[in-house]
Amino acid sequence: MAGRTIPLIDQRAAARAAVVPARPIAADGLLADALGRPLRDLRISVTDRCNFRCSYCMPKEVFDKDYPYLPHSDLLTFEEITRIAGQFVAHGVHKIRLTGGEPLLRKNIEILIRQLAALRTVDGEPLDITLTTNGSLLARKAAALKAAGLQRVTVSLDGLDDGVFRSMNDVDFPVAEVLKGIDAAREAGLGPIKVNMVVKRGTNDHEILPMARHFRGTGIVLRFIEYMDVGATNGWRMNEVMPSAEVLKHIRSELPLVPLEPSATGETAGRWGYADAHGRHAKDAGEIGVISSVTQAFCGDCNRARLSTEGQLYLCLFATQGHDLRSLVRGGASDAELVSAIAAIWQGRTDRYSQLRSTLAPDTGTGARRVEMSYIGG
Ligand code: SAM
Ligand code: SF4
Ligand code: SF4
Repeated sequence: MAGRTIPLIDQRAAARAAVVPARPIAADGLLADALGRPLRDLRISVTDRCNFRCSYCMPKEVFDKDYPYLPHSDLLTFEEITRIAGQFVAHGVHKIRLTGGEPLLRKNIEILIRQLAALRTVDGEPLDITLTTNGSLLARKAAALKAAGLQRVTVSLDGLDDGVFRSMNDVDFPVAEVLKGIDAAREAGLGPIKVNMVVKRGTNDHEILPMARHFRGTGIVLRFIEYMDVGATNGWRMNEVMPSAEVLKHIRSELPLVPLEPSATGETAGRWGYADAHGRHAKDAGEIGVISSVTQAFCGDCNRARLSTEGQLYLCLFATQGHDLRSLVRGGASDAELVSAIAAIWQGRTDRYSQLRSTLAPDTGTGARRVEMSYIGG
């Protein structure tokens, strides 16, 4: 096909070598970046493949049958992932999120979960291990994931209307299957479950209230995500973003809300509780979240690192370059060298794309080609 763009290739070429610093940097759990931000959260993409083609993430025209996905030998093995994750944990990470692509497509993912679940934080505690999924395979896999040590899941669901959902996933996948997956996760004890809804103005904004009504009082936390300008293929336009403030206004027109305190530093979602008749939080009705990555930057607290499917470390969702940790691992680096290299990379981190977005040229981001979300995960 003429004129087709394949941005991922550019990203691989753009990888920077990860360098072991001449002076070793030990892991003391207190690592901070150049803006004083600690390292607490590691997101690991376990595959760049997906069985959905959400237009905001993997548009069909680009991610077609000729798309050059990574060959299996390029993927980090489970042992490599666990070894790298262990070094991050030594630096203070206490939460690991598995993502993709669709992480449940990675064969034997339960084995990886079992390995990660054996790691301990610097305080000797078990890690918080979670996974973000489109839910399509969850009904089949929930029990095995729980048995392997997964604690909870986040399920992406952009609407309850079957027609809207089928057209947004663009592979005609029925919403009923995802709802079955959510039920299975709940039965398996993979909670608290979160449901993520990307809101695209003119596409699924009329699903906001039906989604809120459906999940209210279920113990499931529904989170509305602003459609983001990630990657280089989704044709993002600001006029398709529905700001969280507008989402909240819409919900409040029927279901009153009260603000809640953030549950943790670096928390990406603003929390809102459903209110009772006295304007207090009705705990049984539960809460919702809004993730305002476009209209309200939260870079100041950003403590997240991302490890790509092939072992590149990304310091920001909007980064244009990764740091190649796989070469170090496959080149025979010791644990001390790996820990030092990660420390040096994090210490040099100045990324804060969302904060700077408004000062950049419209719709172009940094001007350089950004990495795809399906490659480094959400
Ligand atoms: N396939 C899994 C899923 O959909 O949950 C995991 C990977 S997906 C890249 C992770 C999250 O990123 C999903 O919740 C998805 O809705 C979100 N996402 C993808 N592209 C986005 C965009 N352009 N703006 C906002 N969120 C996006
Ligand atoms: Fe696949 Fe998730 Fe991207 Fe949708 S958002 S295309 S399910 S990776
Ligand atoms: Fe973190 Fe980058 Fe997102 Fe800012 S834009 S919150 S630095 S991932």
